[in-house]
Amino acid sequence: MKKKKKTSSIRRKLQGEKLKERVEKGRRNATGKQNSIIKIDNIPLWRPKDGEHIVDILPYLAGANDKDTPKGSPTYTFEYLVHRNVGPSNTMVLCLTEMYDKPCPICEHRQKLREDGADDDIWKPLFPKKRNLYNIICYDRGEEEKGVQVWDEASFYSEKNIMAISKKRGRGGKSGKLVNFSDIDAGKSISFTIEPPVSKDDFRSYIGFTFEDREYAIEDDHLESCHCLDELIHLPEYEEIADLYWGSKNRDDDNSKKSKRKSKSSKSSDDESDVDDLMSQLEDCEDLDDIEAFVDENDIDYKVTRKTRFKKAKRELESMVLEQFGDSDDEEEEEKPKKKSKRKPSKDEEEEDEDDDEEDDDEEDDDEEEEDEDDDEDLTWSDIKKMKSKELKAVIKENKLDVDPDDADDLSDLRQMVAEEMGIDDIPF
Ligand SMILES: [Zn+2]
Repeated sequence: MKKKKKTSSIRRKLQGEKLKERVEKGRRNATGKQNSIIKIDNIPLWRPKDGEHIVDILPYLAGANDKDTPKGSPTYTFEYLVHRNVGPSNTMVLCLTEMYDKPCPICEHRQKLREDGADDDIWKPLFPKKRNLYNIICYDRGEEEKGVQVWDEASFYSEKNIMAISKKRGRGGKSGKLVNFSDIDAGKSISFTIEPPVSKDDFRSYIGFTFEDREYAIEDDHLESCHCLDELIHLPEYEEIADLYWGSKNRDDDNSKKSKRKSKSSKSSDDESDVDDLMSQLEDCEDLDDIEAFVDENDIDYKVTRKTRFKKAKRELESMVLEQFGDSDDEEEEEKPKKKSKRKPSKDEEEEDEDDDEEDDDEEDDDEEEEDEDDDEDLTWSDIKKMKSKELKAVIKENKLDVDPDDADDLSDLRQMVAEEMGIDDIPF
């Protein structure tokens, strides 16, 4: 690659009108599945495949929507927090609270559920997840000629790994020097590997992040092609998120509170039979339509959308019913379906699967397997993140989680799905 001198005019151009025009082009049709907050269709997105990769992350000037970087200051990433799988279109929406300290209907609902004593597995998945956008040049075969592409990735895969190597360890416990990998002249390339699945039941993982020296400066052309990442995104209004999240009904918090109270008080005279009645109605539900009818008939504050998963909805509703009616009566305790036990797969179940082909996880697993099966609060993110596909599947089976491994993009995604279903709260993204 040729070495070119950088010019300061490049930096000014990064803020040009052209980019704004592109931003205005309109967001994607909101009825389709929207797995990105990028609102422009023709942004070249880099979607890394299995294997080794090498990229340069290019700096650009932040726009008005970056919470971490003042407008016009250089940055290398736009970090953002989103709620995923929101509403019938399974949309990813920016969390207004985490991003801009504004009210976010989903965070408000999470808080309310928590205060109302809902199960962890109902409100914990409503935490937003951290993601990063980068302008990159990829040097994989056939990629460099594509020029600047945008890499949109869960922080857990990208930023966390990059940050982990960006601080050189100092000798004698001294704090190390930060590696400015995105420096135009003296930056580093980043190489990493996406491990292919070892079997068709396994998933990918992102490993081996390393800085590589580079003997070239980033070209002006490339700097000019960088996107102002925080201005590529769709900034939702509160109302829009609320509409997405709640659908057309039950969106008013106060109303749903009232209806909850109303149903509680009107039924409190005969709680026990009501619980039995509701539980048996729930038991009879065979699909989402039944669930929806059940929710409507009983005026329950529960959102059913096209993407709601039947088993999960049923389980959550059972918890809600029991929570609302089942507190006072000991007899009902026995009727309560057991709360998901948050335990690890038993050894037997792990051995049901094919021979262990995982290498480095084995030693740690030995300890874990000795733990009491009924020790149900112990599964943490650090346990989950060590698990390979078959262990995760054992957890899914063991805890009857509503997770379909086929829905996961890769191993990391599956881990996240399992962790979310288990209501683990220290998921780092
Ligand atoms: Zn939020």
